[in-house]
Amino acid sequence: MKALIAANWKMNNGIKEDVSFVKSFEKLIKNAKNIDVVICPPFTLLYKLNELLKNSEIKLGAQNMHFEEKGAYTGEVSPLMLKDAGCEYVILGHSERRQYFNETDDLINKKVKSALRHKLKPILCIGETLQQRNNNKTMQIIGNQLINCLNGINENEIKSIVVAYEPIWAIGTGNNATPEQAEEVHKFIRSLLLKTYNKKISDDIRIIYGGSVKPESIEDLMKMKNINGTLVGGASLDPKSFAEICNAA
Ligand code: PEP
Repeated sequence: MKALIAANWKMNNGIKEDVSFVKSFEKLIKNAKNIDVVICPPFTLLYKLNELLKNSEIKLGAQNMHFEEKGAYTGEVSPLMLKDAGCEYVILGHSERRQYFNETDDLINKKVKSALRHKLKPILCIGETLQQRNNNKTMQIIGNQLINCLNGINENEIKSIVVAYEPIWAIGTGNNATPEQAEEVHKFIRSLLLKTYNKKISDDIRIIYGGSVKPESIEDLMKMKNINGTLVGGASLDPKSFAEICNAA
């Protein structure tokens, strides 16, 4: 299976950084093999980045979207607009959206369905807090998030989804999950997909890990059977460190 390495730039970078990032990053990953690379910049950079990546294998993604196609939703961006700007992927259900913008599993489920209707590939994020982990609730939380966010998604549609396991305690903290901790949850996610769908789907779906991934930690994470790539925040802002992650994956 081709690994997916995705950059989540969050609310960082401008046009100038965009241009210089692409210039150096493309050179640095020219020998990378068997990976799909996706960059998810802020909305304002999508158009420019799409232009810059015109002749490149690097794919474009957004960090969020509204579930409606258009209308009176001030400040929102629709799936049609993302397609128009050249997106192939969209991150949905990121813990920062859940935490700061009160996104619920129900809302995320609407967004996932809408993305699929518009042929966008959702990178669906799920993850537990430290308190939930310490209270041995990790699998329960992950299971509920996954099942709720995938409610009503059929066998054909699920193939376009990437699941990102992102423990909240690992995001932006410098404490990545150990490969064993991540593998345990990834294995559980795959077993739930087997129960809900079938063996082929659970074998083929990409389950990626996110949370303080650095060039030094990617190799051991990728040795795990059920880890099929990574979603990278902080370390994806620097072309050199993001390229090191891509090259080591
Ligand atoms: C993220 O926000 O998706 C993420 C993984 O961030 P970081 O790599 O900075 O922990």
